[in-house]
Amino acid sequence: MMSVGNDTLGGSNLKYIKLVEFYEKIEQTTKRLAMTDYLVRLFKETPKEIIDKVVYLTQGKIYPDFIELELGIAEKMAIRAIANATGATTKDVEEDFKKTGDLGLTAENFIKRKRQLTLFTKPLTVDYVYSVFDKIAKATGEGSQDLKIRLLSGLLTNAQPKEGKYIVRTVTGRLRLGIADMTILDALAMAFTGSKENRPLLERAYNLCSDLGEVAKAIAEGGLEGIKQFKIRVGRPIRPMLAQRLATPEEILEKLGGKAACEWKFDGERVQIHKDGSQVQLFSRRLENITEQYPDVQEYVREHIKANEVIIEGEIVAIDPETEELRPFQELMHRRRKYEIEKAIEMYPVNVYLFDLLYVDGEDYTTKPYTERRKRLKEIVEENHIKIAPAIVTSDVKEIEKFFEEAIENGCEGLMLKSVKPDSIYQAGARGWLWIKLKRSYQSKMVEPIDVVIVGAFAGKGKRAGTYGALLAAVYNKEKDVFETICKVGSGFTDEDLENLPKILEEYKIDHCHPRVISKLEPDFWFVPAKVIEIIGDELTLSPVHTCAWGIVKEEAGIAVRFPRFTGRWRDDKAPEDATSTQEIIDMYRAQLKTIT
Ligand code: ATP
Repeated sequence: MMSVGNDTLGGSNLKYIKLVEFYEKIEQTTKRLAMTDYLVRLFKETPKEIIDKVVYLTQGKIYPDFIELELGIAEKMAIRAIANATGATTKDVEEDFKKTGDLGLTAENFIKRKRQLTLFTKPLTVDYVYSVFDKIAKATGEGSQDLKIRLLSGLLTNAQPKEGKYIVRTVTGRLRLGIADMTILDALAMAFTGSKENRPLLERAYNLCSDLGEVAKAIAEGGLEGIKQFKIRVGRPIRPMLAQRLATPEEILEKLGGKAACEWKFDGERVQIHKDGSQVQLFSRRLENITEQYPDVQEYVREHIKANEVIIEGEIVAIDPETEELRPFQELMHRRRKYEIEKAIEMYPVNVYLFDLLYVDGEDYTTKPYTERRKRLKEIVEENHIKIAPAIVTSDVKEIEKFFEEAIENGCEGLMLKSVKPDSIYQAGARGWLWIKLKRSYQSKMVEPIDVVIVGAFAGKGKRAGTYGALLAAVYNKEKDVFETICKVGSGFTDEDLENLPKILEEYKIDHCHPRVISKLEPDFWFVPAKVIEIIGDELTLSPVHTCAWGIVKEEAGIAVRFPRFTGRWRDDKAPEDATSTQEIIDMYRAQLKTIT
């Protein structure tokens, strides 16, 4: 039960207005370091018992991503709540919303007007606001819409105008400050251990539990010791291990020490499967819970995995039901739905191709070498619609090439080459050199598509008036935790794409360059780095205007994509930090030089 203190609404003593002041500062910040400093200050002021809640709220969430509950207040509902709380009519609120385009601002306006008439309300605490958000998220079934509106309007009744602004933005999913997980980990390390140098320890804990709130609580309450205690738990997703890329089998073999396990690289949806007895949960690459989308996969796991408690990984791939031939990735997209799932299962059946084992019956396998993991995986799988990815272990380039062709012929994208050395552990959350991908399109020029984050846009002219002429695209620099621009992309968009772009990007608009974006160009619009798209170009070139890898391959120059085009693929399965990295671009640029000369 929520305790109601004497002078505040809520138990713990961090006032919600403090968080609001933090939001305001972040919105005005233009420097990444200042952003971290504000976070450190906020964390230091936060009572330990609510640090997890504060962490979620700084990212506009109330739970980690793998918990499926969402605040889910539609604009229509929020409008009614604002009206109820302020004595206005829904029509008035709608009118104002049309003018502001931001329901948060509208809420602020109406609360301001009402405040002039009322006398005194108790200050809100973070704890209290969180508890109401939690109730809103958990309300389901008949009458839940009304309940959600009542809860929200109750909260707004007690809110100061600017509190109302951020409450409404949070519940409608419009609080987008662009604070990355890594920025939060930096700030936690600085606030609770006095130094950023301890971030790797925090990162490890985060990789194992994928829950920043839990990591924050552990460091705040138990210090570094608490962090070192972290263990894998079935039901709590592990951040996936990722692969590097290189152009040729020779280079890859050299990198892996002369010998590699080569596995078919499937083009489907990555899945991390958690099985606890008969309970099965499925998590996507972004660790969202996708269990409900795949009742068929759940069944395959229950029937064909011969262990009680397991965490395994694989790729879900659409297949032809007659021949079991692999179908293209696009076909699997039909399975991304919440309704008529049974029909979709019938029309778009799938197989699962497993490639890793992370945990089985009490034993953590992430610290064991590849060969041991694979051996155990084979023991627990009874192959059916759930299979093990075909693999060979070899030191022979010719053999790799042959296996590669075979994979392509069978509808795969290429091969995933994996280290078989004794240190070939499962590196949760890392893109290390233990896995290296080899795709067909790696050739002299840049034929390989890359994933870029939209950070700005240029206004369209002539035929494109009213929409964008080009988007400013960036890649992610992991070391610096910033986004560096790599090109302006204006082609490859259909008329429909062009029409939709302003709508899709509207909610990310800000009036200055985001503190985590490094740009020399001044586009007409800036965005919080959030949306990822796939583009392809002719080649990578040196550039005096783009900031990607600035000064690394050449002084006073960055790297840019020449003739970039949108491939039509929105990468909503990727967070901005999952976009192609600066380091990958540098590697691609160097590989390109080698093959051209
Ligand atoms: P990434 O996941 O590396 O950020 P991406 O999503 O663009 O990049 P790719 O670069 O094409 O994907 O390749 C990595 C993905 O390949 C993995 O995340 C996984 O989903 C998939 N995959 C398919 N087969 C395998 C395999 N045998 N081993 C590991 N991953 C595989």
